[in-house]
Parts: sequence; structure tokens; C-alpha cells
Amino acid sequence: MAITAPRGTRDILPGESWKWNYIINTASETMKDFGFREIHLPIFEHTELFSRGVGETTDIVEKEMYTFIDRGERSITLRPEATAGVMRSAIENNLCVQNSIAKLWNWGPMFRYERPQKGRYRQFYQIDAECLGVQNPFADVEIISLSIEIFRRLGLKNLEVVINSVGCEKCRPIYREKLLNYFDAHKNELCETCLTRLDRNPLRILDCKKEACSKVADGAPDIYDSLCDECREHFEEVKKGLERLNFTYKLNKRLVRGLDYYTKTAYEILSGDLGAQNAVAGGGRYDNLSTAIGGNKIPGVGFACGIDRIMLVMEQQNCSFGEVPKTDVYVAALDNEAKGAAQSLTYELRKNKISAECDISGKSFKAQMKNAGSCNFACIIGSEEIAKNSVSVKNLSDGTQVNIPISEAVEYINHQV
Ligand code: ATP
Ligand code: MG
Repeated sequence: MAITAPRGTRDILPGESWKWNYIINTASETMKDFGFREIHLPIFEHTELFSRGVGETTDIVEKEMYTFIDRGERSITLRPEATAGVMRSAIENNLCVQNSIAKLWNWGPMFRYERPQKGRYRQFYQIDAECLGVQNPFADVEIISLSIEIFRRLGLKNLEVVINSVGCEKCRPIYREKLLNYFDAHKNELCETCLTRLDRNPLRILDCKKEACSKVADGAPDIYDSLCDECREHFEEVKKGLERLNFTYKLNKRLVRGLDYYTKTAYEILSGDLGAQNAVAGGGRYDNLSTAIGGNKIPGVGFACGIDRIMLVMEQQNCSFGEVPKTDVYVAALDNEAKGAAQSLTYELRKNKISAECDISGKSFKAQMKNAGSCNFACIIGSEEIAKNSVSVKNLSDGTQVNIPISEAVEYINHQV
């Protein structure tokens, strides 16, 4: 039996990869306009980075990580997300010393052992941006506006920005206690998963999608009543900043996100066109991540968006992916003797950055010209042309044809394309 790709993975085939590149290029240009620089990190890290960074009681660490012991008996994990790795690198490479700011972005595969379904894979791809070293709410606005701008440039419609504050190490424990008391009193209405969350991470119950739990959560104490002055002030400034930029957003006091490192701002961008997996991007502030993984205090705020899901939404909304890639020139050989000359001219064109194709499989002239159909020009070479060191160049859009010295072909075509 032929081997297939592992469950939850998918191949990005040529019919899709050029669209994929369009998304990455658009993100890359936007990052540049916002002053973010590219950083690329290993795809595997020490397991501890995620268990300490993302948090022991999160879904990611509890059940979604690809963890294995390598031949040197180290516990290694395929990265489930990018933020912890970026922070690890910033600490290790001193990117944030003496109050300096690091604005970093990257894209690449992430791995989570999840139940595969539409928009949910075990190997999926994220575009990720992190702003490290700034405590100021302006940084939160910078990050949120960056993510919105990428989607605006991609032409995504029907998006909703949802924000919340999840407090800090000062006020969250107080809120946690209030929640614990509340949910404890409603124990018999909660699902089994939420019962296990009760002591470990009661905030996660707010996020449960099950109807019964959601109903209980509706009546839960409001986080806004527990925020300390600093967190409240920060949240107000973020909202003001978003309003200044004319963004509309929704507040959702139950948005807690699945990673422990968030402090203060948490946000998501949802699409009305994705069904159950409706989040295209998520992010927020994480002022305690650096110390959780053993570094000095470095505040940070960032977001990650799922490329696979962006692709789904763009296809659904008929968004443009720019120009379909096309070959400029097809070099056709009239007979077998001319095939070598055709390949030589093709290579000459390619060296001059003109995209060109010729037959490499022994096709007839007629079949070659059929292949040329999608190109702008056909160069035709036969024994007559070889004898005269010339080539016939046919403009395939208007059918006109000229015969020119072969040494002038590059210049001639360069003028036309
Ligand atoms: P979800 O609620 O859908 O599980 P999440 O909160 O786990 O998302 P994040 O950790 O915030 O996701 O990751 C940021 C983005 O990465 C998501 O908004 C989504 O677009 C994408 N993403 C996350 N998990 C997957 C997955 N398994 N397959 C495809 N895309 C994903
Ligand atoms: Mg998830």
C-alpha cells in the first residue's frame, strides 16, 4: 500500500503554494512598514520551555504537544506556538538589554496533537509578531493594528476584533479565588473537563464551549470588577488607542485564551466565515513569560495568525491572490535536431531573468505549441533558423511574428515583456 501523509497534516501543492506566497509576502511587507524584523527559530525546543512558558495546566501542554526523548535522552518538543521560542531567543541573545525594544516576526509550521477537522490540523502554519521590551499600552495598539492591517491588505471581510483584560499577578489571584468559589457552588452543572479545571485553572472554564458550562459561566463574577488600578488603566488606554485608529472592537470578559502567559490584554480576531474554528488570529500581552522561563523581566505583546485559516477565508470570500504565475516564453523546436538549440536559448533567457520553458520530454512541435499557449511569447527554432543563427519570435497575444538573430533574442524579448 502506498504511504500517505500522517493524519492532520496536509500538502501545500503547487496550485495553492503561489497563493500561500501571496499571503506571506503581504504579511512580510506589512511587517516591514511597521518596523518588525524577521527572526527564525528552531522548530524543536526543550520541552521545559513550553511547560514553563505556556503553562502546565493549559490544553496545549496537557494534551497537544508532540514530545519525544531524543537519542541524547533529552525531552524535546515540536513547537506548538512561537512566542515562547521568540522570548527564549531574546533572552539568550540579549535582544532586549537596557530598555531596548525588539520588534520581531516570523512564520512557519507549528505542531499540536488535536482532532483534525476543517481549519484544524496537527501541522499548521502561523505568522507571528512579537514586540518585546515595552510595557506601554501603545505597544498593544501597535500589535493589534498590525494584525488588522495584514488582514485589511489581504482583503478579508467580515472580521471581528474581540478584546479583554485578564489582569496581572497582583489581581488575577483574587479573581481566580472569586471564580473558584462561584464555580464550586455550581459544580454539578459543569462538564467533566471543567471539573478537572476547577482547582487547576478555573479561568479556563469561562472558555468552555459546552452549553451547560457556558450557561454557568454567564453568571460568573466579572473580571473587570477585580482588575487592579494598573490593569484597569492599561485596558482603558488600549481601548482609547484602538478608537483613535477608528477600529471597532467588541469586549468579551470571557475571553481568556488557552495560554497561561497572558497578562492584561488578550484579544482575538474572528471570522464570520469559518464555522467552529472561527479564530484567524489571537494574541495579547505576556509580561511574566520571560521570568517564567528563567530570564530577566521583559514585558511583551504579540499575536499569531493561522495561515491555513486565512487561506480558507480568502478562498471563501473570493479574495484576490495577485497575479497567477505565468511563464513568459516557450522555446519550441521544429524538429529533433533543434531541441539542443532550444534548450540553450531557454537557458540564456533564464540567465537574464526571463522565465522560459522548453520541451524536455520529446514532444512533437504541435504538442510543444499547445504547451506554449499560456505564455506571452514563443521562440521557434528549426534547421533553417540554426543555419542562419536566427530565431522566430511569435507574440502569442496578437499572432505577429519576427525573425531576428539569436544573439538579439534576449534584448528583443526584454523590450516586449
Ligand atoms: P483555537 O481556539 O481555534 O484552538 P487557539 O486559541 O488554540 O485556537 P492560538 O494558540 O491563539 O490558537 O493560535 C493562533 C492562531 O493559530 C489561531 O487563531 C488559529 O488561526 C491558528 N491555529 C491554532 N491552532 C490551529 C490548528 N490546530 N490548525 C490550524 N490553525 C490553528
Ligand atoms: Mg487550540
